[in-house]
Amino acid sequence: MNILHDERLDGVLPMPDRTALLHKLSIRLPDLHVLHRDEELKPYECDGLAAYRATPLLVVLPETLEQVQIIMQTCNELKVPVVARGAGTGLSGGALPLEQGVLLVMAKFNRILEVNPEGRFARVQPGVRNLAISEACAIHSLYYAPDPSSQIACSIGGNVAENAGGVHCLKYGLTVHNLISVDIITVEGEQMTLGSDALDSPGFDLMALFTGSEGMLGIVVEVKVKLLPKPQVARVLMASFDDVEKAGLAVGNIIAAGIIPGGLEMMDNLAIRAAEDFIHAGYPVEAEAILLCELDGVESDVDEESARVQEVLEQSGATAVQTAKDEAERQRFWAGRKNAFPAVGRISPDYYCMDGTIPRRELPGVLKGIAELSERYDLRVANVFHAGDGNMHPLILFDADVPGGLEKAEALGGQILELCVKVGGSITGEHGVGREKINQMCSQFNDDELELFHAVKAAFDPDRLLNPGKNIPTLHRCAEFGAMHIHHGELPFPELERF
Ligand SMILES: Cc1cc2nc3c(=O)[nH]c(=O)nc-3n(C[C@H](O)[C@H](O)[C@H](O)COP(=O)(O)OP(=O)(O)OC[C@H]3O[C@@H](n4cnc5c(N)ncnc54)[C@H](O)[C@@H]3O)c2cc1C
Repeated sequence: MNILHDERLDGVLPMPDRTALLHKLSIRLPDLHVLHRDEELKPYECDGLAAYRATPLLVVLPETLEQVQIIMQTCNELKVPVVARGAGTGLSGGALPLEQGVLLVMAKFNRILEVNPEGRFARVQPGVRNLAISEACAIHSLYYAPDPSSQIACSIGGNVAENAGGVHCLKYGLTVHNLISVDIITVEGEQMTLGSDALDSPGFDLMALFTGSEGMLGIVVEVKVKLLPKPQVARVLMASFDDVEKAGLAVGNIIAAGIIPGGLEMMDNLAIRAAEDFIHAGYPVEAEAILLCELDGVESDVDEESARVQEVLEQSGATAVQTAKDEAERQRFWAGRKNAFPAVGRISPDYYCMDGTIPRRELPGVLKGIAELSERYDLRVANVFHAGDGNMHPLILFDADVPGGLEKAEALGGQILELCVKVGGSITGEHGVGREKINQMCSQFNDDELELFHAVKAAFDPDRLLNPGKNIPTLHRCAEFGAMHIHHGELPFPELERF
């Protein structure tokens, strides 16, 4: 494969014959729900990253495994690209359709197939909402731990494809740590089970490889997830700070004290005010930053850890520490955090959510760097994020109606991600690369690493039909972006034109 010059890898694709595809699908799958009129396609033109839009060639909504298999076989035969879509809440344009491709919407795969309290697992179809799993097993005092803030809407298939995280992933792990197996349909239409019921299995760990692969290796059709017993007690402490950097420092201090909280989240003043105005969570609107620290487990452990966390927070410079007095207040504290994104949406015509991860100890410096960049670009930035994981979510406030507004916000976002990489972090924590951060992949990885990613992709999808143009940039693209990894001052691929 020549990844220097294969334009298909950059999403430059020939336009397929839509009529021929429709005809084939209607003969092979007369009952398949297919959308092809302009007004039917419009609602699917973007995911949660609404700044990027494209009208898909066709939208298909299969209901059975066999339908998915035949769709994949037909698209493979006609060399038509396929983009999978769950609930469309992704924030990096991963489910952004292609004008030359089919959008495969998995929303009708919405059944919980089995809840097994003895085995502590559930088997679910990929379109099942994340929160619906915990709701279905609550009767057994069990729950599914990874809890993205979008859990009321996002699908488990999308969670697998993005390796989604959430408030409680610091202690309980990301999606990949809470899966038992994943059933997929390959680009050729074959069914495969990745992972197994055994704790370890021979061969390469393909389930881990697949998790977070953003719809580029296959279609998730069933997921077997681990269920955990609900902790006996969960208590949340809210600490206020008069300085954002002090709050950042406190995060590292808590972990250094040997405590792994169930959740450890941070919000700065702009986010606090927006959330308080929207949810009335009881947040201190005068604080420069708050930390929400949840401790869970058996009562005696929670008592002891709460006292220690309180001490660490005070020693780190907290101006006040408040413990939620009851379950209703605990829920309110979390509701403010979980609704912070829509809350920020109320105070700005548009916002652009970034997602970078840094080593925890770098939090104070990176928060300072973001504040400086915000000033330099003259754009407000609200910070609300999974502080314990070092997973930053700067929300850049802008107005898309102002000419150049989006471009300026994107440029600031790019700078923030570069800052994350500079301190040893990563350009994505949980939202994926998608279309949005494809250029920053050139800063994160060198040419050998990118070639390896393309080779893995080719092993699953030799014709690059699954979600092309996302996630992994070509070296040509990196050269154009101008952010190619320079090793010892040597420019890779000097023969390429730079624009
Ligand atoms: C308000 C808000 C808060 C959020 N908070 C968080 C958070 O705390 N943590 C977090 O991790 N994310 C968060 N997100 C991002 C988003 O919800 C997650 O990335 C989620 O996992 C996407 O799921 P989805 O079903 O909406 O997938 P989609 O957006 O539909 O798709 C996402 C990607 O998955 C692929 N995909 C979807 N279904 C399948 C399938 N069946 N087979 C193969 N590929 C598939 C798509 O091709 C695409 O690349 C948030 C989003 C919003 C809007």
